[in-house]
Amino acid sequence: MSQITVVEDRESLPVALEDDAAKITPMMLQWHACKKMAKDAILLFRMGDFYEAFYDDATLVARELDIALTKRQNIPMAGVPFHSCDGYVDKLVGKGHRVAIAEQTEDPKKAKGLVKREVVRVITPGTVVSSGLLKEKCNNFFAAVSQVGNTYGLALLDLTTAEFRVIEFDRLSDLQNECYRFRPAEFLASDKFKAKHADFFQDLGASYTFLVSPLEDWHFDYQLCYNFLTEHFRVHSLDGFGLRGMTAAVNSAGALLQYLQDNLCLSTDHIRQLQTYSNALFMSLDHHTQRNLELTEALHTGGRKNTLLEILDQTVTPMGGRMMYRWVKQPLLSLEDIQARQDSVADFLAHPSKLSALRQQLDHVRDLERLMTKVCSGYATPRDLVALKSSLEPIPAIKQTLEGLAAPLIVHEAMRLVALPEVTTLIGNALTESPPMRVSDGHVFREGFHAELDELRLLSRDSKNWLARYQTQIRETTGIKSAKVGFNRMFGYYIEVSKGQSDNVPATFQRRQTLVNGERYVTPELKEYETKVLTAEERIGALENDLFMALRDQVAAYVQQVVMVARILSHLDALQSLGEAARCYGYTRPVIDDSTVLSIQAGRHPVIEGSHLGEKFIPNDTELDGTHQRLHIITGPNMAGKSTYIRQVALITIMAQIGSFVPAASAHIGIVDKVFTRIGASDDLSRGQSTFMVEMTETANILNSATARSLVILDEIGRGTSTYDGISIAWAVAEYLLTEPHKAAKTLFATHYWELTQLEGRIPGAINYNVAVREHEDKIVFLRKIVKGGTDKSYGIHVGSLAGLPPAVIARAREILKHLEDNSVRHSPFQHGDSRRSSRQVKKSAEVQFLLFDLVGPKAGSQPVPDDQESAEMVLQQLKTLDLNVLTPLEAIAQLSKFQQLLGCTKES
Ligand code: ADP
Ligand code: MG
Repeated sequence: MSQITVVEDRESLPVALEDDAAKITPMMLQWHACKKMAKDAILLFRMGDFYEAFYDDATLVARELDIALTKRQNIPMAGVPFHSCDGYVDKLVGKGHRVAIAEQTEDPKKAKGLVKREVVRVITPGTVVSSGLLKEKCNNFFAAVSQVGNTYGLALLDLTTAEFRVIEFDRLSDLQNECYRFRPAEFLASDKFKAKHADFFQDLGASYTFLVSPLEDWHFDYQLCYNFLTEHFRVHSLDGFGLRGMTAAVNSAGALLQYLQDNLCLSTDHIRQLQTYSNALFMSLDHHTQRNLELTEALHTGGRKNTLLEILDQTVTPMGGRMMYRWVKQPLLSLEDIQARQDSVADFLAHPSKLSALRQQLDHVRDLERLMTKVCSGYATPRDLVALKSSLEPIPAIKQTLEGLAAPLIVHEAMRLVALPEVTTLIGNALTESPPMRVSDGHVFREGFHAELDELRLLSRDSKNWLARYQTQIRETTGIKSAKVGFNRMFGYYIEVSKGQSDNVPATFQRRQTLVNGERYVTPELKEYETKVLTAEERIGALENDLFMALRDQVAAYVQQVVMVARILSHLDALQSLGEAARCYGYTRPVIDDSTVLSIQAGRHPVIEGSHLGEKFIPNDTELDGTHQRLHIITGPNMAGKSTYIRQVALITIMAQIGSFVPAASAHIGIVDKVFTRIGASDDLSRGQSTFMVEMTETANILNSATARSLVILDEIGRGTSTYDGISIAWAVAEYLLTEPHKAAKTLFATHYWELTQLEGRIPGAINYNVAVREHEDKIVFLRKIVKGGTDKSYGIHVGSLAGLPPAVIARAREILKHLEDNSVRHSPFQHGDSRRSSRQVKKSAEVQFLLFDLVGPKAGSQPVPDDQESAEMVLQQLKTLDLNVLTPLEAIAQLSKFQQLLGCTKES
């Protein structure tokens, strides 16, 4: 492990302290030198049995840990006991701080003068290796991002599992999506990157918390990084890692590894592989989609509960859990790969007893990846080695269980899976069944493992007998019946004689201590014995420590075999997990092919179907294809089930491409390249940003990126603005998706703008559906069934009534609705004055209908288009009455565009 050596350097003291430098004690001088190394990390400075923080660090630590703030020579100070410091460090790191540990790096007994202290490691959210902060089933990534020209490089390193991967992107948004996918706990970025892309981290920060560590630009220099990596991996060229021409990726990976070594004093020796990967193999899911569909984190709580992952993750090992997380975030595109997973799921379903046996056997397997990393980086405890052993032991039984299963993936993994008796025997022969956490606690090794150790143990164990015998002997030879042999830390072994008997003490006794009622003596014999016993105990400690380190190194030599076993077991675990989910929830195998069909019979929402208390979940069908049924306009009142339905279709598609079975009676799914979802602003209250702009940016992104193979889910798009803008934008978006060549994505568009239903019949491919409701005595009953046809009536008032709006309001609303329906659009229902309301909105919605009908062109048989003269007058008339004070810039632009269209201007002009 590299260490930072402290240079005692007065010139380097902070300016404010220079005046006082003369008064500073050597110890504080040492502290300042360590602090300089620790930079903005909180410095925990080892002093005896405590780690102390000073100055501002002390105030911060006292506040964050809720411990006492004291003073030492007028310097604020706060400390935590060294033996329980892990919990405190976790707490600080968990709150987003970096913590530097300065240890005493020489034996205080041997030190001449001040004990040497050095910063031995800096702990940050991205670098915790053995901590309660690590979530079992989650990777803990440290990421580095960089930019070269228009290319963005991302390096992801999980120190706990030694996974190290790089990837490049042409667009910043793709980089962001990837970061959202893997949620690194910490980022490294050059100052330049940070300044240039402040939004990047800000946007990402809206969804979860992480730490950003900035670094001067030169650390990302290509040559520097390249050389560093070749040296680290002991290779001549990085071509073997597939890094040829990947400048940005090399810069990210190099800067990251070097930062860990140089700035955080971390050992990176166990990082022996660097993988380049590409997203071309996976379905593209931008980060809004990942978020909206609640694939791995729930929208409101941020937790795993009520997510797709929660349903599909039936893994029993931590590394299997991490693999399942990746699978959910990376649905596949290859038909062959998807079918291979499906075959395995089918195989498990056909052999439920094997499935349950495998699950039980895997249950004994601990986190092999993390255990092995701890072994290799020297953090493994005796208990970790025993855990490693008991994780490898079930392998022969697992192989036996897998016999008789025929799915190619399972057969392949079963063949590669090897038991590692060398490792289990090595550990089993050496360590006791349940050793303590720390080697220093003793009794780590078995009797019979090491001859010298056994002998020393005998000696130290026998000491009680020896002392008893010696006491009897003293009493007999001196005649002092009350003489006692005892031990204390200060004087070691002694003979205690009461005051009245001290005259009978022989001359060979040397007096050491006088008590109120007695005297304490030692004898040369006792001293000699003491040295032997104490040395034995010291020697046992040292020997067990050496033996343990040797054992750890021996086990570390098996790293490749163990990691290989770990990967195979995680794969099997993930496969059985899909099998178990299919079994538990009654899923069926979807037909997957290269067509553009998306056909689902009796589909259910995988998450909601289970969490439904009281109401039974109603299944629904879906029929989409690339031609006649491309865009479904789904209307229906609030709370009818629109959002649930369209998400369910997206989730079923994603599940199918993960290789999972799906919640449906049957399904036929042509491979989908990208899934997009957008949620209208007001449906996404949790966000609280200027939502309409966000909504529009997101929508623009869909329109730019969708292909004929994509699936687009739009939920109430256009809601974030006035009705007027909203309908226009929603309409234009739908029209674009339907008519633009190469963009004809399969689309589900849930909206409460019934106006959109007029698309059907005007543009081929648009079909209306609605969520059936039944009116019952002026109330509505939700049937949750998706049926053909549009709604042409708003049920908002019914819902208002259901929700308990006062009867007077409901009555008034009905009156207004009637007016709107009856009156010609130019007659506002409020002409006779209603001072309590603004008439702006109502007027607008009236205008909308009028404008829309003009804009969309006549349906066969409806009124003729107005001629030029009429249009011009209409525009003039509207221009005069426009209230500029209430128009937003966006509304103004939309308005101008409408005037242009009314005047017959073509798109190009
Ligand atoms: P909308 O988007 O139309 O306002 P939601 O999709 O938000 O409606 O659904 C409203 C409520 O109805 C939710 O609580 C949901 O759990 C329930 N729900 C939706 N679809 C179904 C269904 N198919 N079966 C049973 N309950 C459903
Ligand atoms: Mg909704």
